[in-house]
Amino acid sequence: MTPKKVTTNPAAREKSPVHLDDTDEAGESTLEVGSPKSWAAGVPGVLHSTIPAVEGMGLNRSRKTLLAMNQKDGFDCMSCAWPDPTHRKTFEFCENGAKAVTWEATPVTIGTEFWAEHSVSDLRAQTEYWLGMQGRLTEPVYKAAGEDHYRPISWDEAFRVIADKLNGLDSPHEAAFYTSGRTSNEAAFAYQLFVRAFGTNNLPDCSNMCHESSGWAMGQTIGIGKATITYDDFGKADLIIVMGQNPGTNHPRMLTALEEAKENGAEIVAVNPMPEAGLKRYKNPQKVKGIIGHGTGMADQFMQIRLGGDMALLQAVSKRVLDAEARNPGTVLDHDFLREHCQGLEQLTEHLAGLDEAAVSLATGLRTAEIDELAERYLRADKVIITWAMGLTQQKKGVATIKEIINLLLLRGNIGKPGAGASPIRGHSNVQGDRTMGIWEQMPPAFLDALQREFGFDPPREHGVDSVQTIQGLRDGRIKFFMAVGGNLVSAISDTQAAEAAMSGAEMIVQVSTKLNRSHTVVGEEALILPTKGRTEIDRQATGDQFVSVEDTVCAVHPSWGKVAPVSPHLLSEVAIVSRLARAVLGRRVDVDWLGFERNYDLIRDHISHVVVGCSDYNTKIRQDGGFLLPNGPRDSRTFATPTGKAMITVNELEHLERPEGTLILQTLRSHDQFNTTIYGNDDRYRGIKKGRHVVFVNPNDLVELGLHDEQLVDVHGVYSDGVDRVLSSFRVVAYPTARGCAAAYYPEANVLVPLEHLAEGSNTPVSKGVIVRLEPAHNTEAVLIG
Ligand code: SF4
Repeated sequence: MTPKKVTTNPAAREKSPVHLDDTDEAGESTLEVGSPKSWAAGVPGVLHSTIPAVEGMGLNRSRKTLLAMNQKDGFDCMSCAWPDPTHRKTFEFCENGAKAVTWEATPVTIGTEFWAEHSVSDLRAQTEYWLGMQGRLTEPVYKAAGEDHYRPISWDEAFRVIADKLNGLDSPHEAAFYTSGRTSNEAAFAYQLFVRAFGTNNLPDCSNMCHESSGWAMGQTIGIGKATITYDDFGKADLIIVMGQNPGTNHPRMLTALEEAKENGAEIVAVNPMPEAGLKRYKNPQKVKGIIGHGTGMADQFMQIRLGGDMALLQAVSKRVLDAEARNPGTVLDHDFLREHCQGLEQLTEHLAGLDEAAVSLATGLRTAEIDELAERYLRADKVIITWAMGLTQQKKGVATIKEIINLLLLRGNIGKPGAGASPIRGHSNVQGDRTMGIWEQMPPAFLDALQREFGFDPPREHGVDSVQTIQGLRDGRIKFFMAVGGNLVSAISDTQAAEAAMSGAEMIVQVSTKLNRSHTVVGEEALILPTKGRTEIDRQATGDQFVSVEDTVCAVHPSWGKVAPVSPHLLSEVAIVSRLARAVLGRRVDVDWLGFERNYDLIRDHISHVVVGCSDYNTKIRQDGGFLLPNGPRDSRTFATPTGKAMITVNELEHLERPEGTLILQTLRSHDQFNTTIYGNDDRYRGIKKGRHVVFVNPNDLVELGLHDEQLVDVHGVYSDGVDRVLSSFRVVAYPTARGCAAAYYPEANVLVPLEHLAEGSNTPVSKGVIVRLEPAHNTEAVLIG
């Protein structure tokens, strides 16, 4: 990779009032490193929410959006998938939710002249942050073959161009249709219907890159790939184990639920390679003690685990539980539950009897006493929730690790009772709902049968491609057309260079977006950008204002109503775009009232009622106060939709990451000023980082061993034997209290280090939490950007 010199565009920053920080985006050379914070939120959280909102949207638009956010008749936050409490407060949002709204609802727009001024090549040289700062997209644009500029195009012409391309393919499998987690249930259902009517199951989504490991592990063991708890269970738990997760940044309102749990007497254990401010202390800005007091201490125990060591820790705790049962037979395990609902206990007992404690120490980096302490907490607690995020799912052994979570919970009946359960925390607002609506390359036959009954065509039955396979298909020429409803796949996926090279080979790329991002600059022969309304915006159709629906991380489905005028009258909703595209591509090939879908979203919901399990009478239930909970066998009735009808206790061979001498294990992570690939600013307040993102966090003792020093500029090389030199050039070392032998750098920049074929076993999720790297003094000592 040839690094590019830092470039700035002060004009763009002047144009947009949405400055979420005062960073000079060239400022890797002006990077400031302070101390990590020991608490989260409080007054600074309020200021970082409201000041940028008012500056960016104006007082009126800020008031209309922020007060409607996550309210029963308002819109659902487009950022994370954290659920809403039954009794909502006036301010039901966090700093990062406010940033997401400010980012989307900005009145700054991209005008027609922008496209003549900026070639695609120009745009490609800009940063993700700069691209987003240009404002909202307002008209469809098209880049023709051989040209280096997008140019405005009418909606009708755009649909015709796309339809001609799709209908000219040799096979529908030469097209792939990606979905981001922002897409509503209604748009997602219509989209998958269109894609399957077109003739393929090529429906990759962002879930492929985040919680796919959770889905597979839970599906195989308890018959459902979703959380087995509700929001209220947090307040009833005795013990909450938070693994591989940083709620203070990635789903900040979870801190309120954890605080409630603490106030009700729960213990919290945080398991993570890095200490994170939100899990140390939370200053709830809606409480006096959070504003002028010390707030609430969060984790009772912090276990600084090595990357990849979670499976070993879980096995070690389960072994201690089984040993305690052996010492006091009949008193430790939940025998009634195990007898009635589970199978596999004997095999697990036998397997863990031989657990090598030395291997556990090596894998986890934890002291035996720390593991004993966690086991004692687990044994003391009647109701335990284990919650996790990408710190686990993006490990090579992510699926097996989550199966070990299920094992541990099952041993003491911690699934299907109040205050207990398994809780994967989904990343993007409706990523879970999109799956429920059929966005998956491997939907089961029952769903496809229901589609066939409802719409009278036979959907394709062979599995489609996931996100990584889409990139591989583009690379190998098997996929020629790529469409994305939302998202930024080129930045989100691993192996940036390989992904960009693959995407550049597409014959046509179509992206439905609210704002510019990196993926719009990595174009194939032809490319189109179709601008869409955001969640915050009123969606007026022929039969009146429409709402959409979304599903949060605990299976609660609720409506979302836009509240402010769209930034442009030319925007179409996602539903309208999908419906018009379907009409243009399919004509009368299937008997679907696409026009009716666009005019009245109730029609789509009627079909959802007939096709999607748990959604019968959808139009009635979604209009109930606050929506409804989807049925969930393990949670509701301890029923498990596995082949045996029992929850499966599984045996998983212990394996941990080996690192050759002189290397570190690196994880990618987000800063506090970003959500997924969207960069709101270049600070990471809680980790003490200001005005820069090109940093690599390393334990001070490892720096000494490696002969490096704090603040040194280094090149970070991926250590893989496939002959590709993957490198992050000129990153600044930050001595940081991360676990020994581990390092961290920001996503998406560090994606460049993760080989495309480096995947979690059983889920195909990129292994971004286990990248072997070597740090070398920087070849180029100037601040650089990743090209
Ligand atoms: S916790 Fe998540 S859903 Fe709630 S406001 Fe914050 S970012 Fe939005």
